[in-house]
Amino acid sequence: MAELLDERSRAYLRARRDDDILCDLDPHKAHHASGLLLLQCGDADISCGLLDHYRQLSGCDRIHQITVNGGALNLSSASPVPRRRAYAITGLQLMYEIEEACSLKGLDKVVVCGHSACGAGRAAKLSEEDAMRLIVQGKLELREFFHRRGREHIEIGSMMHVRWNGDEPRLYFLDAARYARTFMPAPLTGT
Ligand SMILES: [Zn+2]
Repeated sequence: MAELLDERSRAYLRARRDDDILCDLDPHKAHHASGLLLLQCGDADISCGLLDHYRQLSGCDRIHQITVNGGALNLSSASPVPRRRAYAITGLQLMYEIEEACSLKGLDKVVVCGHSACGAGRAAKLSEEDAMRLIVQGKLELREFFHRRGREHIEIGSMMHVRWNGDEPRLYFLDAARYARTFMPAPLTGT
């Protein structure tokens, strides 16, 4: 069964939409026909539709998928999502996996995607607020990782899929730079 958003979660996501941290995806900006990597949650209720939608938006038929429960929620070293597992898929392992895929397939764009409501996020007792912070933090950590590994040329985008109750699900660009400027007090080296 698909997870539902409660009123508090909806209000949080609406507020981020109102302050343009969640923006409608611009097909011109999303366009990246040469190939990209998509990190997303494997959620049975959304993953097929999300892929079709993004494929259409990006005009890209070369989408290398890395799918793990919670998707982009797994990247940050601060995230409780990978730590819940008795076996280990850590954010760092995921970053190496992403790097290897980019290298093997000659990809220069990575899109990290989270979604609301996410069962893996719920299982780790994350609010929508927590989840968005961890996705942004994960993106920043991935940028640092690429920097350390000499892969600065790889562009990183972030998206949120929101299944508003009773409405068609929507895919948004998550403006990590705007989020960081607004909500993260520490000085940042990247976006
Ligand atoms: Zn999920």
